[in-house]
Amino acid sequence: MRAPEGVIAVASMAYLVMVALLVGSFINMAADRLPRGESLVRPRSHCRSCGRVLNLVDLIPLAGYLIRGGRCASCGAAIGPSSPAVEALCGSLMVGALGLLGPIRGAVVGVLAILVVGVATVALSMARARSG
Ligand SMILES: [Zn+2]
Repeated sequence: MRAPEGVIAVASMAYLVMVALLVGSFINMAADRLPRGESLVRPRSHCRSCGRVLNLVDLIPLAGYLIRGGRCASCGAAIGPSSPAVEALCGSLMVGALGLLGPIRGAVVGVLAILVVGVATVALSMARARSG
């Protein structure tokens, strides 16, 4: 039996939105690390206050923030609203693009929009770091 096309479309759009959220999460890390001249690869993501290495729950875009109540699970340091905001923005850009333009063109436009968000977020954070 063949899966109906609608199911495949919904599944691939859900996948694209999930990827968009993960890219948002990566943008946050880049915006956090690049101005400090740190590597994007090492060390693993950790709390800036207590150094605890983030686990799978912490790293789920949006949900991780909500589950932890916006705080580090070990030391209670506030994570700040910009991380979930960037993730939500990336997710909703993808949802919006897919909704308006359909799965193919929507995916392309969604990826481009997220790229712009990524560049802008990192540039902003670099500028902020430079001005002190
Ligand atoms: Zn901590």
